[in-house]
Amino acid sequence: MIGLKEILEAKQEIQDVIHETPILHSTQLSEICGNNMYFKAEHLQKTGSFKIRGATNKVKKAVKGKARFITTASSGNHGQAVAYIANQLRVPATIVVPEDVRESKLKAINAYGGTVAKHGLTSEERLIKAEEVAEQNHGVFIPPYNDALVMAGQGTVGLEILAQLSETDVVVVPIGGGGLISGVLTAIKQSKPNVKVIGVEPETANDTYLSLKNGELTEIPVSTTIADGLRAIKPGYLTFPVVQRYIDDIVLVSDDDIKEAQLLVLERMKQLIEPSSATTVAAAMHGKLHVKDKNVVCVLTGGNVDVR
Ligand SMILES: *Cc1c(COP(=O)(O)O)cnc(C)c1O
Repeated sequence: MIGLKEILEAKQEIQDVIHETPILHSTQLSEICGNNMYFKAEHLQKTGSFKIRGATNKVKKAVKGKARFITTASSGNHGQAVAYIANQLRVPATIVVPEDVRESKLKAINAYGGTVAKHGLTSEERLIKAEEVAEQNHGVFIPPYNDALVMAGQGTVGLEILAQLSETDVVVVPIGGGGLISGVLTAIKQSKPNVKVIGVEPETANDTYLSLKNGELTEIPVSTTIADGLRAIKPGYLTFPVVQRYIDDIVLVSDDDIKEAQLLVLERMKQLIEPSSATTVAAAMHGKLHVKDKNVVCVLTGGNVDVR
């Protein structure tokens, strides 16, 4: 398991690449939610999501270990983050994407300097291909969440929240494969354990919710939730034990509530966030956090939306 030490090391390692994103406050959202509402603005992060934190920590270590080639298997925010940092470090990167990938995602990866390889339709097919390409080229495969360095990098979000808003009572984090929440839980519970951390999943992508209930890793069918960053089918075997040990609560939100929250943040706060981020706001708006008059920080994890 990672500890606070690994997250402090990650902070050092990535600080020349990432932005320290602001924490925003909204009086209107506070009234609607019955809490004092703050928002950690990772949608304003380099590459448009927090994924650059874990990717930078992992890719930098790989390059110091003499890796001369990087691969990953994600067409989404993780793929864009890996393409960006590999390009910054002048290491070639191949991002394996599905055959039916959206044009806008291809363009984003290319714009960050990554090479795209189309392969298969399922995430398993892509994963095998990306690992194969890495091996053939003496490269390193960068996992999206189930990796200690990636988890430690994402955990720097937790450190920043505590440093920027010392009166934080509750932090709300969306859960996909669990890289972000396991890092944030470690950072917060090992330095300020009284701060509550609540996880959020879409109703139809409730793999971590079910795994916690069953006390073991539980796989679900692929979800079609609008929160496309949260469609993991089961938690990581490295991330899940951290969640099990530290999480205070986990709540589920519907796609309709996610859309409502995304629109509200756009209208009232003038911030464009993606549906995966809006899950945290949806949970707060619908009383699912079961707290009142607290200082609540929702992590706005990303802002990459195809506006058309
Ligand atoms: C990846 C991602 C998540 C989920 O993070 P995990 O580490 O997989 O739990 C949430 N929101 C956005 C915008 C993401 O890109």
